[in-house]
Amino acid sequence: MGMAYGSDYHGLPVTSVRNGKGIEVAPDLFQLTVQIVNVVFVGEPNRGDWVMVDAGMPNKADEIIEAAEERFGTGHPPKAIVLTHGHFDHVGSIIECSGHWNVDVFAHEAEFPYLTGKRAYMTPDPSAAPGLVAKMSPWFPNEPIQLGNRLQVLPADGSVPYLPGWRWLLTGGHTPGHVSLFKDESRSLIAGDAFVTVKQESIYKVFMQELEFSGPPKYFTPDWKAAKASVLKLAGLNRDCGHGSRATGRGRSLKEGFTSIGRSFWFHSSA
Ligand SMILES: [Zn+2]
Ligand SMILES: [Zn+2]
Repeated sequence: MGMAYGSDYHGLPVTSVRNGKGIEVAPDLFQLTVQIVNVVFVGEPNRGDWVMVDAGMPNKADEIIEAAEERFGTGHPPKAIVLTHGHFDHVGSIIECSGHWNVDVFAHEAEFPYLTGKRAYMTPDPSAAPGLVAKMSPWFPNEPIQLGNRLQVLPADGSVPYLPGWRWLLTGGHTPGHVSLFKDESRSLIAGDAFVTVKQESIYKVFMQELEFSGPPKYFTPDWKAAKASVLKLAGLNRDCGHGSRATGRGRSLKEGFTSIGRSFWFHSSA
């Protein structure tokens, strides 16, 4: 079965100061900012397998592939691509990337309708949040992509293909099958759009000023209740690890002790 983007696919004339820049967040975590979203390379150069998480904005495959070759060398493609979810800014260049590397794409089963051409995402609601991005959101593509035979379901046991030590967690709400990836040993978290923090270097505005972190972009989130539960799940994850429960301020326990990569931010904590 062939692969195809949604009929409404197009690039966006938005950017951030970090566009095109890569940062090694941890030895096995490299974040490449593509306009306003992050693509994550998981795995250490010269040390076995690596996997790419998400595939950036439309028409950015050349940049992504170039950055990957710069980090891992030519002839060392990723073993797979894992999707946090199927929004256009996370699958924007996936057909070219997965084709170039000839690799499978893994996602949660609940996300499959949006990745197999069956169901469109919600129409973005520009009134749901303040800010420039929300105002632009009616122009965001929301038609489903068709990934054909490349699409594979994430393992039911919670493991992440080719990445021992990592596990995926269902953090739905933003989309039904949104997943976050977590590595217990280093407490590294790849949160996709499950939440954004206030410390952003892009044009994104903060939606919930009273918290140090907030939920996902409201204009593109149909199930806010589930999204909140997912944020709390991630917060609880940190507490479980025994490092985060410094109850010194709202929102802090999620932040502290994490190496975390979300929509358009990163931070590295030495806690
Ligand atoms: Zn999203
Ligand atoms: Zn996104």
